[in-house]
Amino acid sequence: MYSLMANCCNWLKRWREPVRKVTLIMVGLDNAGKTATVKGIQGESPEDVAPTVGFSKIDLKQGRFEVTIFDLGGGKRIRGIWKNYYAESYGIIFVVDSSDVERMEETKETMSEVLRHPKISGKPVLVLANKQDKEGALAEADVIECLSLEKLVNEHKCLCQIEPCSAIMGYGKKIDKSIKKGLLWLLHIIAKDFDVLHERIQKDTAEQKAAEEQEKRERAERVRKIREEREQKEREDAEREGRNISDEGESEIITGNPFQPISAVITENEKKIEKEKKRQREESEKDTIILKSQTNQEQMDTQSLKSQHSTDCRLVENYKSASTQGLEHEDENEQQISESFDSGDNVTLNSETESSKKKAKKLKLKRSHRVEPVNTEETISPHPTPVAPLAPVGWETPKVNRIRKLEPLGETRRNDFYGKPLPPLTMRQKPNSDSHDVIS
Ligand code: GDP
Repeated sequence: MYSLMANCCNWLKRWREPVRKVTLIMVGLDNAGKTATVKGIQGESPEDVAPTVGFSKIDLKQGRFEVTIFDLGGGKRIRGIWKNYYAESYGIIFVVDSSDVERMEETKETMSEVLRHPKISGKPVLVLANKQDKEGALAEADVIECLSLEKLVNEHKCLCQIEPCSAIMGYGKKIDKSIKKGLLWLLHIIAKDFDVLHERIQKDTAEQKAAEEQEKRERAERVRKIREEREQKEREDAEREGRNISDEGESEIITGNPFQPISAVITENEKKIEKEKKRQREESEKDTIILKSQTNQEQMDTQSLKSQHSTDCRLVENYKSASTQGLEHEDENEQQISESFDSGDNVTLNSETESSKKKAKKLKLKRSHRVEPVNTEETISPHPTPVAPLAPVGWETPKVNRIRKLEPLGETRRNDFYGKPLPPLTMRQKPNSDSHDVIS
């Protein structure tokens, strides 16, 4: 009856107790099993966890406690951040890989460093001698000895409990009992001395905040000084070189607190990006307008080119027809010349020669506005010969017509004195010779 009454009193007492918010830190070397332990406490499978990079935070409820556990990364380079969490921490969970004998010395040094810190000394410490399931894992006593735990905790006045455990044994309700036991012990010690601890934490966190603010101010001051010195140096350099420093792009001056919240920085950056995009859009629009006007100009150019081309084509056509006509006339002339030559009519010959010369000149003039290939010398014989003048070789030259005239050597249209056609000239080729044909 008496015990029942005592239990009821205790329950009532606890029910009246306020909810207590407690922060714990979980530290230890990398690969010790911190994340696996935290996951197991949280009720998640501790298997296939990656070593902690940075930190992770979990919240859980245990009785009248709202517990926040910071799982801090244990890599050598990241251990420096641990101290930022010391002030607000009510207790420490130190995880040791009991199977890693080689790193026991490092573990000892790390633990010593933690317990020595003024914001930690005097606070309760739970040591989890993890990985007990592994072969060759050190037993509880060996871990205590390797770490000189007794000495350490006495030196720094830390209440300590060591629990040999295995984080991968189970999770949630099936979590290794040693882990659960250790956690309850820690919370119990904290609860016992809560008011004293709480006061200390309030004080320590306020101090830490003030120290951080001070550090920020000092850093800002240092940055300001460095900037001032740099600007002073730039001014001096500019004066020495005779430059006007106000003309040069002014560097962005950070006014106020340089340590803005990240959301503000993101918003600011987004605004800048938006501005930049707008500017680029405007520029591209300008470019498009210029491009359009250029395109119009180009179209006009193309049109004028086309008209020029058509003019050229017309000229070519004219040239073609002119040359064809000229050639026809030449043919006729030649015919007449040869006839006159045969008949000895020199006067006609001369006049005809004159007219043919004029025509050739006309043709030449017509062609003169065109660019002719380099070797396009038009050979106009000063004396009329039955053989046609050499045709200009090149584009659109009436080469074919002229060749036609040269071809039928065997069918010369020579007539005799009475107008009778003469027998064709015979051609004799030298046997086995590629040299010139010889007209016999
Ligand atoms: P942390 O770097 O301290 O966070 O270490 P992790 O929790 O990431 O664990 C590192 C490795 O050890 C992982 O592969 C875990 O699966 C493994 N591990 C953690 N605890 C135990 C344990 O109790 N026994 C065994 N055998 N392996 C464990």
